[in-house]
This record gives sequence, C-alpha cells and structure tokens, in this order.
Amino acid sequence: MGVLDREWSRKDDVPPSSSGLRRSSSGRVPQWALEEALNEQLRAYAAVTGGKRTDRGPRRRRRRFAASRRSSASRRSSASKLRVRTGALIALVIALYLSPSVFEREIFPDVLPHLPWSNVPPRGVEAADAPLGTPPPSTGSSNYTLFDYPGLKQDFVAYDPCRPIHYVVRPDFAPAGTDGIVQEAVAEVAAATGLTFVFDGPSAEAPSPEDRDPYQPALYGERWAPVLITWSSPEEVPDLAGPTAGLGGSEIAQRPDKPVVLVAGQVMLDAPAMTQILEFDGGRDHVKAIVIHELGHVLGLDHVDNPNQLMHEENNGRTTLADGDLAGLATLGAGPCVPEL
Ligand SMILES: [Zn+2]
Repeated sequence: MGVLDREWSRKDDVPPSSSGLRRSSSGRVPQWALEEALNEQLRAYAAVTGGKRTDRGPRRRRRRFAASRRSSASRRSSASKLRVRTGALIALVIALYLSPSVFEREIFPDVLPHLPWSNVPPRGVEAADAPLGTPPPSTGSSNYTLFDYPGLKQDFVAYDPCRPIHYVVRPDFAPAGTDGIVQEAVAEVAAATGLTFVFDGPSAEAPSPEDRDPYQPALYGERWAPVLITWSSPEEVPDLAGPTAGLGGSEIAQRPDKPVVLVAGQVMLDAPAMTQILEFDGGRDHVKAIVIHELGHVLGLDHVDNPNQLMHEENNGRTTLADGDLAGLATLGAGPCVPEL
C-alpha cells in the first residue's frame, strides 16, 4: 500500500518504533509517519500559542497581544480587562502523496484529484508560470520570527506566490464600524508580501478551530479552500475565551519532493471583544491591527520577542506593521511556486 490520502494514512499498520515514529520493515521512516508526528507537534503548538493552555501539549510561555490603552481614565479599568491576546492557529499536514513507486509518485497524484472521493483539488489551479507579484525590498530588520515546522527541510513555509490567495469573510456578528476593515488589513499584508489576494465575498462557513477541511468543493469549487475570516465568539470558538481576541493560521500541504506550502488559512476574531475595543479612541485602528496580526500568522509569521513589532506578543499601542514585521512578510512573499500541488 503506497499512495495515501489522509484517510488511508491513518489506517496504515506499520508498527511504531521505539522513537515513536512508525517505521517500515526496511527501517525507513515513512514520510506520512513523519508528518503525522509533526502533526501532533503542530496540534500541541496550536494549543499553546492559541493563548489558552490546554492539556494537549507542552506548556510554553504565555503569549499576549494586548490592546493599547490610550483611553481616558474613566475607561481605564474596563480597558485593563481588555488585555487582548491573539494567537497562532497552526493546522494539519496533509499527507497527500507519499509512496516510492513511479506510479504512486507521479501518476496516481495526477489521477487522485479527479476521483469522486478525492480530498484534494486538481493540481495547479490558477498557477501561473511566475510569481504574480514582487515583494518589496526587505527593510533589513531581523526582528521577525517565521513559524518553525519541526522535521521539514526547508527554511520557511509560505503561500505559493504564483497563484492568488482567495479569501472570504463570514459577515455574521461583525461589529458595527468594521465595514471594510478586513479588506484594509489584507491590503497591508498584500503590499508587504507582494502576494495577490482576491476577495471572494461573504461565506456561510463557520470557523473550524481544530480541523478545517482545506478542500471543500461543494462550497468553493475544485480548488484549495480560501482563507476564511470569521467574526466569532468564545461561545463558538472556545479558544477565544479570556483575553484572546483572535486566532490565525493556515493549513499546510505537500506533494512528495516538493516544498510544503500554506493553504486554506483562517482568522477567527472575538467579535464581542472587538466591540469593546471599538469604543476606545482609535479603536478601529486597533481592531485592524489585530486583523493584520492574525493575517501575519496566516502567512507564516510567529510572535517575535522585539516589543516594537506588531507581531510581538504584547502590543503597546502599535497599529501598523514595523520594520521586522515588514522584513518577515517580504520573506514570506518570496516562497517557492509549487504548481504540482
Ligand atoms: Zn499572535
């Protein structure tokens, strides 16, 4: 049994090795096993960087993205409750095509998307021969951190710059005063990356904090699902409880011997918290900053230690991308094109 989609990969019965990674009889660690192990790490990582500690993974330091407090004294106490934390939602590896034979590596992957039960889109949808845009020159700053994907042999993981990144917004529960705010935030990260974004309009899709299906042909056609931005709540997304105001991240997908790329990102915003923030002076800019911060996670930025960056865990009033954020996004705009996916 060779070619594995996500369903099959879990049914493989290679016994676990002492290291915890499943090995074939030849001793080689099957790629899907590596990715499954990675998957567990990513799940654990998402659990902690999502801002809400859980028992699913090792604890890490708390990460916080606080709303600034430039409000009047009378608002100070309520503002102090608005220590807004945002987090990174990292998702699942899609073990698509993971076998050694020519048939399985080269032929089946081309056939797989066209089978009725396929869970991947046809290859190369909208893929151009060259990047659609060019990232701006780097600011030269090193004040950024790219997401680290343990086990992957590439410097960073980014969206394919040879095709547009589609995005949709679920309009339900959007606070008053936020019209156009997502588009404005997207425009900023588009300019910073050189990546091309296309707004596909409203979507009825609900957020999927744990396991969003990156391929939903019934809803979006035969292509990777667009980035989904939702105005949500702690009732709908429990990880938004407490000081967490937003979550952001992307799925990753790979074809054998090709770079891993990001697909089907999500931003989940705590609409009630945003409503409170909007009451403060400059509140709209802060909400937009949170959206930009989450889009930074979607595009591959992790939190950075430098406190003057928008991607820092605590925000001291910054509402625009800083030099490190810009350098990181410029890097992420120059990822590899993977038309085979
Ligand atoms: Zn964050």
